[in-house]
Amino acid sequence: MTLLERETGPAHKICGEFISGEAVADLATLGVDVGSLGGAPIGAMRLVHRGRVAESRLPFQAAGLSRFRLDEALLARAVALGADVRRGVRVRNAAPGMVQTDHASLSAPILLLATGKHDVRGLARIPGRAPEELIGFKLHLRLTRAQRAALTGFVEVILFDGGYAGLQMVEGDTANLCLLVDRGRYDVDWPTLLAALQREDSHLARRLDGACAAWVRPLTIFRVPYGFVHQGPDQPGVYRLGDQAAVIPSFCGDGMAIALHSARLAATAVLQGDDPATYHRAMRRDAGPPVRLAQRAYRLTRSPAIRTLVVSATRRWPGLLRVAALRTRVSMP
Ligand SMILES: Cc1cc2nc3c(=O)[nH]c(=O)nc-3n(C[C@H](O)[C@H](O)[C@H](O)COP(=O)(O)OP(=O)(O)OC[C@H]3O[C@@H](n4cnc5c(N)ncnc54)[C@H](O)[C@@H]3O)c2cc1C
Repeated sequence: MTLLERETGPAHKICGEFISGEAVADLATLGVDVGSLGGAPIGAMRLVHRGRVAESRLPFQAAGLSRFRLDEALLARAVALGADVRRGVRVRNAAPGMVQTDHASLSAPILLLATGKHDVRGLARIPGRAPEELIGFKLHLRLTRAQRAALTGFVEVILFDGGYAGLQMVEGDTANLCLLVDRGRYDVDWPTLLAALQREDSHLARRLDGACAAWVRPLTIFRVPYGFVHQGPDQPGVYRLGDQAAVIPSFCGDGMAIALHSARLAATAVLQGDDPATYHRAMRRDAGPPVRLAQRAYRLTRSPAIRTLVVSATRRWPGLLRVAALRTRVSMP
């Protein structure tokens, strides 16, 4: 098996870096132990709106681990298991049975397409509707000791006008802040946006008070097709994995679990001789319901009145958060 990866070495990626329970378990079966990699245990969640906080235990043990570290561990594991991993190789074009890189044309009778948010020319996804005009930001931070202690063990989802933020610890006493913001709201520069969000939400302001950013500017991404589930057409020998098969709204923190689930299903399909249509049907069955539910929940939280209501209700009945967390998982082992 040949694996082509365009990055030449470890790289930071836009991601909340929340590894949900089923992803932790799936990684363990692949021989990747999130705890040994320094993953920060996460067992509870806080939902925040305008400084009001609802808190609940999660119905599974999750973890925070940077993609910088996790993706390298996965590639190392692939090498150890005999894959021919080629780094710094960008696929420019692809078609059933063929992959074109900067330097060569490779025959690929079976093509596992796992390019994530980025489409490859020739095999681009066909989104059902235009992607939301959301911009994603990610920044690693060093929080003050008190704020680090307060955040440890929790993933925090902070809802605001035109988007939401995820905040949690990853390895090495680092916090990850990941934001999704409507394009309409991002007509200012990053420091101005962050300052405005801190004025709006006293909880976020407290967390970020005295924090040092690891990078001058955050990583950014634009137009992620949230809610996408591959409906075809299916091409011979082409199996779509991860975000190429289904894209769940980020606040659920289940994109990596879906990617791992799809990899397992696709590998099984290939070994059994199932065609791509059979595999994609199984993916629609497994990933479709959580993606649709998460998409509906995201749309609802765009209304300030509903955000207030949701936080009030979950303060009163924290079990609601646990149910929502379970219903937006691709599968629980
Ligand atoms: C803002 C945001 C926050 C998120 N937060 C979370 C979270 O907290 N938890 C969670 O589980 N999920 C989260 N997700 C979703 C998660 O990041 C994705 O669902 C997941 O990474 C999908 O995995 P993948 O393998 O499909 O793609 P990726 O992880 O994006 O991997 C694709 C790989 O393909 C390589 N590649 C791309 N194009 C080419 C090419 N042409 N040639 C060669 N190589 C190529 C890339 O370099 C990359 O290594 C978030 C997403 C966003 C946008």
